[in-house]
Amino acid sequence: MTTFSDLKLAEPLLKALAEEGYENPTPIQAQSIPHLLAGRDLLGLAQTGTGKTAAFALPILDYLLKNPKAAGPKKARVLILAPTRELVSQISDSFKAYARHMKFTQAVVFGGVGQGRQVEAMRRGVDVLVAAPGRLLDLIGQGYIDLSALEVLVLDEADRMLDMGFVRDIRRIMTFLPAKRQTLLFSATMPRSIAELASSLLNDPAKVEVTPPSSTVDRIQQAVMFVDGSNKRDALLTLVESPKVARAVVFTLMKHEANKVAEFLNKNSIVAEAIHGNKSQGARERAMKGFRAGSVKVLVATDIAARGIDVDDVSHVFNYDLPNVPESYVHRIGRTARAGRDGWAVSFCDPEQRAWLRDIEKTIGKPIPVVRDHPWHSADAENSTMRPPVLGGGGGRGRGGPPRGGAGGGRGRGGPPRGGAPRSGGGNGRMGGSRAAAGRAG
Ligand code: AMP
Repeated sequence: MTTFSDLKLAEPLLKALAEEGYENPTPIQAQSIPHLLAGRDLLGLAQTGTGKTAAFALPILDYLLKNPKAAGPKKARVLILAPTRELVSQISDSFKAYARHMKFTQAVVFGGVGQGRQVEAMRRGVDVLVAAPGRLLDLIGQGYIDLSALEVLVLDEADRMLDMGFVRDIRRIMTFLPAKRQTLLFSATMPRSIAELASSLLNDPAKVEVTPPSSTVDRIQQAVMFVDGSNKRDALLTLVESPKVARAVVFTLMKHEANKVAEFLNKNSIVAEAIHGNKSQGARERAMKGFRAGSVKVLVATDIAARGIDVDDVSHVFNYDLPNVPESYVHRIGRTARAGRDGWAVSFCDPEQRAWLRDIEKTIGKPIPVVRDHPWHSADAENSTMRPPVLGGGGGRGRGGPPRGGAGGGRGRGGPPRGGAPRSGGGNGRMGGSRAAAGRAG
């Protein structure tokens, strides 16, 4: 097996990795880092949870260590583009953690907050700029940022940036960059739009692909409970009241449902916050901060808002609603069992969402154990042949289609004991305290 020292990373980085508790590179790291150290462009097919941030951050920091120079006023040597403020902050925190034994400057740029501090952080120039596309263009337009001397560009979660309508912003940003540079593009999926973007930006890239981290998925204890929609709240409350639930993410399909669930939990003495696209940046940031610090026990999220949540010690994921897109199930449950820990993923399935459960089981290639020994068990849900709802608006793609048969699928399997018996206490918060607010560092 490859080790970090096999990868020939510089000593200050190896030291930081040891302190982070990383023993060995993840597959995306082992595959990408040699190409990146050699200066090649890279196309990486990988999602959050695979260790992709370190896969690009480490070779970039190695390069900065070995090629020190002042960036120059308003300039950045490295630009990381990411879709959301949350992701920008997380990437910035990761750089800070890995660079703790070297000199290095960075700035973050994103919308939804005043620009003063961001402009100030860029005044003398930085090694690494982590930015969301909209505000970055804004600041370039106002003359506060100069990308003409850029050496390395990373597009992270490129598919998500396109989904969020950033394609024109990205294309415009490219016009400010020098042609000679190293370019990396990471995406969880590879639709045609991404393949096209990649071929226009990358020069003979190395291609690296990792499937969702199966080692992680294997560590997740999964369970499904068949319940009617009207009983979901009570069932959820009972589950999250368990002292074994240290930190939980609850997923709903709809934003208003996320609000209602959070309200209900708060009324019942469980500190919960909803995060979704209708919340202001400030509100989302506060919720995430509370969640990391442990003052917020439950984060209630929709798929869009939750993507990229990077908190290592989530003990439980609860699917209040199943996702209508099977791949989202894998993304969601990947919020737990991170960084070598165990985790639980418990899903409610109501009669309307029964067909989605079959799709999910097909996608993950195995049945999810059923827990029937609870007060809300609904045989109607378990045997339902209802057509799933067709979702409109921002919720996702409705799938219409004919009603699905009730036979076959996942019935009559022995489930784990009552309540899905969440086990690990978790909550030792390796990174919790160290995640300082993003900003100029180094
Ligand atoms: P990412 O895919 O970049 O969001 O990373 C997922 C999580 O894995 C983060 O919480 C990292 O701190 C953690 N991580 C990344 N690389 C390693 C590694 N080599 N060993 C252990 N944990 C890691």
